[in-house]
Amino acid sequence: MPNYWNEAMECMDPEEMRKLQDERLMQTVKRVYENVPFYRKRMDEAGITPEDIHGVEDLPKLPFTTKADLRDYYPFGTFAAPMEDIVRIQASSGTTGKQIIAGYTQNDIDNWDECVARGLTSIGVTRKDKVHVSYGYGLFTGGLGAHGGASKVGAAVVPASVGNTKRQMTLLHDLQSTTLCCTPSYALHLAEALQEVGLTKEDLNLQYGVFGAEPWTEAMRTEIENKLGLKAYDIYGLTEVLGPGVSMECSEKQGMHIQADHFIAEIVDPDTFEPLPAGQEGELVFTTITKEGMPMIRYRTKDLTVLHTERCACGRTSPRMEKIRARTDDMLIIRGVNVFPSQIESVILRHAEVEPHYMIYVDRVDNTDTLEIHIEVNETTFSDQVKKLEDLAREISADIQSVLGIKAAVLLVEPRSIQRSEGKAVRVIDKRKLYK
Ligand code: ADP
Ligand code: ZN
Repeated sequence: MPNYWNEAMECMDPEEMRKLQDERLMQTVKRVYENVPFYRKRMDEAGITPEDIHGVEDLPKLPFTTKADLRDYYPFGTFAAPMEDIVRIQASSGTTGKQIIAGYTQNDIDNWDECVARGLTSIGVTRKDKVHVSYGYGLFTGGLGAHGGASKVGAAVVPASVGNTKRQMTLLHDLQSTTLCCTPSYALHLAEALQEVGLTKEDLNLQYGVFGAEPWTEAMRTEIENKLGLKAYDIYGLTEVLGPGVSMECSEKQGMHIQADHFIAEIVDPDTFEPLPAGQEGELVFTTITKEGMPMIRYRTKDLTVLHTERCACGRTSPRMEKIRARTDDMLIIRGVNVFPSQIESVILRHAEVEPHYMIYVDRVDNTDTLEIHIEVNETTFSDQVKKLEDLAREISADIQSVLGIKAAVLLVEPRSIQRSEGKAVRVIDKRKLYK
């Protein structure tokens, strides 16, 4: 028997769910209008009042909220609960600039823990499991988020946090933990450390990996599963909306189930911001409908994905989002062509001779954009003749050109020469930004 699953909510008839969302949305809009000057101002400017919102179909009437808005109202300007009701403060990673502060009431924390617990349960984690959390603890939502959910399931949580990778490996071995939570890039790093301490995946007892906080490809999933001998699942979230657990894959791995009793997801055209139907790719937008501390109205995530609304084979009816294809902030425009790092990653991982460690350098020389990709080769290839390495670099470069439509210089580098990450990986250095 699963240990934490809320069948009533997770398998609710979609029409019933819609009614619940209508009701909760109306309450949320009313509350933010009354308690948050920022939202009141925005709605006044748009000429709407809470009475104009009767349910989900009226969402497009509401203005969007962006990271820039939250920065303008930093730190507490978008809180809807009095400080005496706030029991926790967290902050975003600050990947794209100043960190966002988020405040949670006790109800918010309870709901957050439940969202993560539902996700863990949906992949098979129970109170018998040992869950090793290597997301950073602290202001970043990853550590405490995964911790709270695993505790709610009743599992034994190992709050390892990040750092001291060899020691993490020893702990994973000695405690025989069954579940690993961290960023996908750190999972790869741990897999390397496994070799370094002279262990194999068979010496570990890992069954489930819960990886998120950064985009990762299907090819990366296969790579991590093979190296660590576990099943890898994607978990998604963001500080502004909650933290990890807004959505997570179930054992079917057919998209991440969004916890629809807490969040309404929309997909909008990233240029015109017009709502798009399920099945079409666009920017993900979230409205929270139970959050008290810091509710979000139509928050533009800048994450690109596709929504699906059909019932999942696991029985859950909640909408599912595909793996994040990209953060629009990560999009590079090189010689006028849009390039996403994930496209480059997919090409790299097609070649067995190289490792999934790479770095993308973009620059501007003589008014022309340049793209250079450094990729680590594996030990065997590294000891090959120079001619073979040159051929391989040319082959990868040709592959990248056929996918991106532009030329890239590929430089094969020594094993382990690219900096490893403990949290969100930094894979792009755009020197053009330095000149601006
Ligand atoms: P920041 O926006 O500063 O990175 P957060 O720590 O709140 O702050 O991270 C949230 C962002 O991380 C999301 O908007 C998304 O871009 C990325 N993210 C989180 N989980 C995933 C995931 N599973 N796949 C891809 N990207 C993810
Ligand atoms: Zn499912």
